Amino acid sequence: MEVNKEFEIQQKSQGQKMRYRNFPMVPRVVYGNGSFCQLGDILMPQRKNSDAPCVFLVDDVFEGTSFVGRIPVIFSDQIIFISADEEPKTDQVDALVAKIKQDFSELPSGIIGIGGGTLLDLAKAVAIMLTNKGNASEYQGWDLVQRPSVYHVGIPTISGTGAEVSRTTVLLGPEKKLGINSDFTVFDQVILDPELTRGVEKEQWFFTGMDCYIHCIESLNGTYLNAFSQSYGEKALELCKEVYLKDLPASIAREKLMMASWHGGMSIAYSQVGVAHAMSYGLSYLLGVKHGVGNCLVFQHLAEFYPEGVALFQQMIEKHAIDLPQGVCKNLSDSDFETMISVSLGMEPLWENALGKDWYNKINPEKLRTIYEKI
Ligand code: NAD
Ligand code: ZN
Repeated sequence: MEVNKEFEIQQKSQGQKMRYRNFPMVPRVVYGNGSFCQLGDILMPQRKNSDAPCVFLVDDVFEGTSFVGRIPVIFSDQIIFISADEEPKTDQVDALVAKIKQDFSELPSGIIGIGGGTLLDLAKAVAIMLTNKGNASEYQGWDLVQRPSVYHVGIPTISGTGAEVSRTTVLLGPEKKLGINSDFTVFDQVILDPELTRGVEKEQWFFTGMDCYIHCIESLNGTYLNAFSQSYGEKALELCKEVYLKDLPASIAREKLMMASWHGGMSIAYSQVGVAHAMSYGLSYLLGVKHGVGNCLVFQHLAEFYPEGVALFQQMIEKHAIDLPQGVCKNLSDSDFETMISVSLGMEPLWENALGKDWYNKINPEKLRTIYEKI
């Protein structure tokens, strides 16, 4: 009796102090090989009328392939092919929104993103900006979006980023690379069809998959970790190890990596990423290095922070004979290093997750410069 009471009091006082995040999850998801075929049926009840189209934003790697014939286009629906060579930008989002508003008299019934993290993030951002005033860069940050977005669907064709499940869309703006983090960012529907990842080239498969692996390591070793994040992070890590260290049949590996990506994304929803991501943002901001590659470039030098994670990463690099780019920071000026360091140190929640509340006593610009110089 006494113990129960004490527990109750403790709970109450904790309840008053703690504010737990209340975040949305993707409400509907279909998983399975060939499940892309269900897209037409899924969209039908969402269609408002024949003047309110579905707009499909599709990675241009699929342009001219038979896959395009499988996209369920009817009425005035539009397919827009977009290159994923560069990471998404706020002005690119603004231009797409302007085009869609110009082409149609009504708001679209749905925006469907088909591709990797680049296309998924573009689809999320376009869906938000169709119903919110101003420019996309005004919404980079946390919970700045006021109005619900247009119905939007995410269909990954490469696995790893977790963008299919996250509440952010990472955009390069005029001043910063930062996500539009909001409850309205999350997809209304996701289709997970592992078959769609069939054509991914080996190096890209490795880099995007390592994004997931690094999400797990950073989440599981972070100070923000709780049982919720841990349960997803551990599962994702187990799947990544199977995919990258065992010799699985290709179809099984595709299926497992798709689920690793999902769980990795869920793991960071309640926690954060860490040192590799903070430093990778600097590389990407200054040099346009792509997210997956940037993470690997940094992570290889982070044994001090993530000893076991880096050791396993080296095994994976060797097993798949991946050559990481060398000398990326070789010819940079002092001011270049300063830019990267300041972008990186600006990612406070990432450092706090990695090193604790007094993170600024544990890391300094010189230390970051030493790591960047090795890349
Ligand atoms: P990506 O979308 O940039 O695509 C990488 C390459 O793979 C491209 O050349 C693309 O054409 C190709 N590709 C994709 N699917 C293919 C297929 N089935 N067959 C052949 N080629 C294919 O890659 P990514 O690594 O998935 O995404 C990176 C982006 O994701 C970055 O912009 C990053 O900022 C973002 N990101 C977002 C989140 C989030 O939560 N929103 C999380 C992590 C990363
Ligand atoms: Zn990432």
